[in-house]
This record gives sequence, structure tokens and C-alpha cells, in this order.
Amino acid sequence: MVEEKWDAIIVGAGVAGSVAALLLARANARVLLVERGHQAGSKNMSGGRVYTHGLKRIFPHFSEMLPVERRVAHEKISLLTPDRMTTFDYRSTQPETDNASYTVLRASFDHALAKEAESAGATVLTGARVDDVLTREGKVSGISIEGETLLSDVVILADGVNSLLGERLKMTQKLTPQKTALGVKTVIELPQNLIEERFQLSDNEGCAWLFAGAVTSGLVGGGFLYTNKASLSLGVVCHLDQLNEHNQSVPEMLDAFSRHALIAPLIRGGRVGEYSAHLVSESGIHGVASKLFDDGVLIIGDAAGFCLNLGYTVRGMDLAIASAEMAAQTVLSAKARQDFSAHALSSYRTLIGESFVGKDMTTYRRCPALLKTPRFFKDYPELAANLLEDIFTVKSQPVEPLLKRGIRHCESIGLATLAKDIIKAARSF
Ligand SMILES: Cc1cc2nc3c(=O)[nH]c(=O)nc-3n(C[C@H](O)[C@H](O)[C@H](O)COP(=O)(O)OP(=O)(O)OC[C@H]3O[C@@H](n4cnc5c(N)ncnc54)[C@H](O)[C@@H]3O)c2cc1C
Repeated sequence: MVEEKWDAIIVGAGVAGSVAALLLARANARVLLVERGHQAGSKNMSGGRVYTHGLKRIFPHFSEMLPVERRVAHEKISLLTPDRMTTFDYRSTQPETDNASYTVLRASFDHALAKEAESAGATVLTGARVDDVLTREGKVSGISIEGETLLSDVVILADGVNSLLGERLKMTQKLTPQKTALGVKTVIELPQNLIEERFQLSDNEGCAWLFAGAVTSGLVGGGFLYTNKASLSLGVVCHLDQLNEHNQSVPEMLDAFSRHALIAPLIRGGRVGEYSAHLVSESGIHGVASKLFDDGVLIIGDAAGFCLNLGYTVRGMDLAIASAEMAAQTVLSAKARQDFSAHALSSYRTLIGESFVGKDMTTYRRCPALLKTPRFFKDYPELAANLLEDIFTVKSQPVEPLLKRGIRHCESIGLATLAKDIIKAARSF
């Protein structure tokens, strides 16, 4: 009896898995996309915004086909203290370019991406958890779900940040609290006109707002607020090792963040529509899979460790899309030669290394260490607020020259320490 065999089985219908399935199906490959959630997107979470350079290549009219929320035209970064906030604010009224970013809600976005893969010819199986990856004669040959075996020429692991299957195949390392953060997010529903009024947005414009400081009680991490069409995504991310060390909880941090006197007015009157939590890799290139391919298997997206937290933004989805494209390209050339050996699939590593994925991960290799500097979360928010308060306060005493005042404030941290941090930051970005 001839066993039924797929050209490719993809584990996980997040952004990475669905894009890989879509591209393979478009090229007439027989693809099975397996997702453990009851529907694609139901288990997924980002802040989030997606940088659309890759999406646009796959869907030239993506904003008409996929449920994107608002185009980010307003960027804000705030250093928060318990009662003050210093904000860097950037706005643009320039027309949309190929490098735009859009806010998204993953439940609807991922669901739509999987539907696109299905329309292109992929078979999508939801509510099914892949228990294991099968190997025959040292080569990956399929998967098993509840004891049932499904065979394929190649398996693509797109099972997200905690890739248990990748770990079992010794392609990824175990996640550790030092390398991982926990994000908790709430989606607050508000009328569209109220969002546009409160955030001074027009039409389809959106705001991406990142926070550091009091949002995590000075621990290593941050907060975010993204405007969607008729909701706000508000969340907090904190390193797991910090949470353990200081006995803190991210849901409590999010609750306190929502009640902060400078945040509460922005979300007032809103209704919680969604509440979710997810792990995020914080180790940049140091968390990339030790093997990106092996005989009959490739690993993409978060499962491969392609995620960058740069403090002022988090990038995972654009890297997931690009790695999915490169994996699909690799599988199609392997299919043409009917050779799915590690040697044949090794071009995936070359493609990654030569693309912005590999190059950006390398450029930002120092970021994880920089972003673990406690001063950025405790001392600098206070310093910025003290300095600005001093500048904006007029008293009945003669003023000190600005330079003298600046030095006095900076001495609270130490001028040498400050200089070292500036150099470290400049080298990290
Ligand atoms: C708090 C937070 C904020 C973020 N903000 C942003 C942002 O603003 N912009 C950005 O680009 N990125 C952001 N990211 C990162 C981004 O979410 C990820 O990089 C992205 O989701 C990676 O996509 P993926 O498809 O590789 O993995 P995932 O989206 O995690 O998808 C993996 C899928 O695999 C499924 N799965 C897992 N195991 C199995 C199994 N055994 N069998 C079947 N299915 C399985 C899961 O259910 C899931 O659907 C953020 C992440 C977090 C946590």
C-alpha cells in the first residue's frame, strides 16, 4: 500500500506558518498547515504593529485584503515615573510608502492569513496539536497527532517562541528566564471618534507608543499602547528573571499602568474586549536556533528565534514573514530536485544570512545586553523628568546656567556612567 504523503507539513498557523503555507500552495505544492488553536490566531499575541515591507510583496493590496487596523503615522516613546512622563514624539503627514507599518489584532489578522493560505490550496487543520515529529532513518518524515501519523517530504516548524518540537530535534535551545520576557495585553474597545480625538489622529492614522520606567516599577521591561480602529492595545512586558527576583506579577503591573494618572484618561470609558499573555524572546541573535535546517526539516519565525526587541519597537512579524518566504523558496527548489536532505535545505541558512533578517539580527546583537541595564528603567526616567521640571519651573531665585543644572542632575547617575551608557547605546543600535 502506498502511504499518502504531503509535500510539506507546517506546524503552527501564526504569521510564519500561514505565509509559508500560502507561498507553497501558490506554487501548487500539497501543503498541510496544522494549528493547535480552535482557529488560526486564537493563541497568538503581539503588541502590535506589523512592518509591511514583506506583506506587500506577498499581497500587493494587503490593506484591502487583510484586516489591518491603522497605519502608524505617530510614534511616541515615553519615560514614565510614578507621577511624570517625558515623551519623544514623532509625527508624519507624508503619504504612505512601501515601508509603512500598521497596527493589527492577531486574532483576526492570523485568521485571515490562514484563510488566504486555504484559498491558495493549502489544507488547514485547526484544533490539532502536533505531538511529535517523526524520523525515519535519521530524516524527518512527518508528524504525529494523537497517535495518528502524517507523512511529508519536509516539515516546517513554525510553532512559535517556545518550540518544543525544535527542542526535541535539538535544533533550538531551551528557553530560560534570562532570555525571555512575559507580555500581558488588554484590548480596550472605544468608539473610533473618541480614539481619533484623544490621540489626535485623522482617517486611518494610528499611534504606536512605547513606555519605559514606572510601567514595570523600574524593572527591565516596558509598556505599549497601540491604536486600532475601534480599540486600544495596552500591555506590559517584563523579563522573567526580573519577575522572579522581585516577586512581581505582570498582570498587576498592567493594572497599575492602566490606573496611572497620565494613562487612565486615554482609556477612560473603554471596555475590555480581550486579555492575553505570551512569551517573547529577548535574546536577539543569541536566541537563534542552533540549526535552522536538518534532513527533512526547517524552522522559521519565532520558533527559529527571529525576534528583535529594540526598546523603541519589537520586530517579530516582519522577520516571521521573511523567514517563511525563504523557507518556501528553499522547499520549492528541493521539491524540483526531489532532494530534501540537510544539504539540499542548507540554502535556507544562506538566504537568511544574506537577507535583512540575518543582517539586522547581527547589527542589533548588542541590544539584549544594553536593554538589561537597570538604569534605563529606573534612573533615566527620573533624570529626564527632573531635568525638564527644572527647565520648565520659574522661581523667584536667580537661575543657574543650563549646563550647570544639567551636570548637577546627571551627577545623580555619575557622569562617567552616563557617558558609558550613551556610547553603549550608540554601539548597540
Ligand atoms: C507582548 C508582545 C508584543 C509584541 N509586539 C510585536 C510587535 O509590535 N510587532 C512585531 O512584529 N512583533 C511583535 N511581537 C513578536 C511577534 O508576536 C512574534 O514575533 C510573532 O508572533 C511570530 O510569529 P510566528 O508565526 O513565528 O509565531 P506565533 O505567532 O507564536 O505562532 C505559532 C503558532 O504555532 C501554534 N503551535 C505551537 N505549537 C504547536 C503544536 N505543537 N501543534 C500545532 N500548533 C502549534 C501556536 O498555537 C501558534 O498559532 C510581540 C510579542 C509579544 C509577546
